[in-house]
Amino acid sequence: MNYSKRVQQIEPSATVAVGNLAAELRADGVDVADLSVGEPDFGTPENIVRAGQEAMDNGHTGYPPSNGIPGLRKAIVEKLERDGMAYDFDSVIVTPGAKQALFETVQSLVDPGDEVVLLDPAWVSYRPMISMAGGSVTSVDTRPYEFQLAPALDELAETIDDDTELLVINSPSNPTGSVYTERALEGVRDLAVDHGVTVLSDEIYDGITYGTEPTSIGAIDGMADRTVTVNGFSKTYAMTGWRLGYLAGPEGLVTQASKVHSHSVTCAANFVQHAGIEALENSNDEVEQMVDEFRKRRDLLVDLLEANGISIRPPDGAFYAMVPVDDDDQTWCENALEDAHVATVPGSAFGAPGYARFAYTCSQDRLREAIDRLAENELL
Ligand code: PMP
Repeated sequence: MNYSKRVQQIEPSATVAVGNLAAELRADGVDVADLSVGEPDFGTPENIVRAGQEAMDNGHTGYPPSNGIPGLRKAIVEKLERDGMAYDFDSVIVTPGAKQALFETVQSLVDPGDEVVLLDPAWVSYRPMISMAGGSVTSVDTRPYEFQLAPALDELAETIDDDTELLVINSPSNPTGSVYTERALEGVRDLAVDHGVTVLSDEIYDGITYGTEPTSIGAIDGMADRTVTVNGFSKTYAMTGWRLGYLAGPEGLVTQASKVHSHSVTCAANFVQHAGIEALENSNDEVEQMVDEFRKRRDLLVDLLEANGISIRPPDGAFYAMVPVDDDDQTWCENALEDAHVATVPGSAFGAPGYARFAYTCSQDRLREAIDRLAENELL
């Protein structure tokens, strides 16, 4: 077979690759401490599971409207309103996972040759999505700025120009855990308006922050008609396997993205959408408990690293930390897995060589053990 150039130019997801390696070791009976997975170790809250089951019992098993069931789209509009954005019902497309929402947005906006700007380190799937659409990526490296946006704005100003089609913002960020300040996002707004740039705001971790309220860039003056807001249920509600997310944007973009949506996935699963309503409307306490536990783990990880002579700025959100390791982060991660049996993801997979991403999605005991093992093997 002759594979398309489009697909040949992309690599499989590095996070999935590490997960597979860890699974292989586990199958051989090795006890792997897994700090590589980007999914909560909690089960989906019971009330949400029940809502999904009841929806199935009540016969919600056929095709729903392509862009989402009215009840969920209404609940999403209300959520976005709480975040300071005035989207209407028709501005929302419910998707099977936020990933599909990002994919549809990129397909709708990026032509071959278009320039897209990322802030590195960036989540692993942005680049492949952009390159499948034929776009090219330029990026600003936030490593020198402790992964913060405000001090990187001058460089961003040098990178964005009138040829820039799209800028992707991900706050709270995977892999850094950074939460960008409103001030910094106003700086982004000024650049976006000056150069006629659309902003794709991936807010999938907005429910997981530790005292810093995240700002939605779509809520900032002048951004409503040039922002596509993407969010999902996987992280905040521990619903990774349900596949539920959404995009909200200006009418024209939604019209275009709806075409990609209807010709690819058709819809998100019907009963899953019913569970999504329960998640948005009745799960604050459950989310609070999970976030409390993530915060304890974050503090523990920062302390354990400190005790081993590694000082990092405590991440303000999500459940990841970027930890400085060897310049050759790939080899460091291989050694960590093979010698210490600790799975992490090389920073170079995110455009940040010299770091490894540690996900604190395992118990505090397990986290302690992982750091002990890395220290025993002289990897810290
Ligand atoms: N954006 C970011 C930054 C993510 O980390 C993820 C999941 N790893 C997604 C989007 C996609 O999430 P999902 O498709 O499960 O909603």
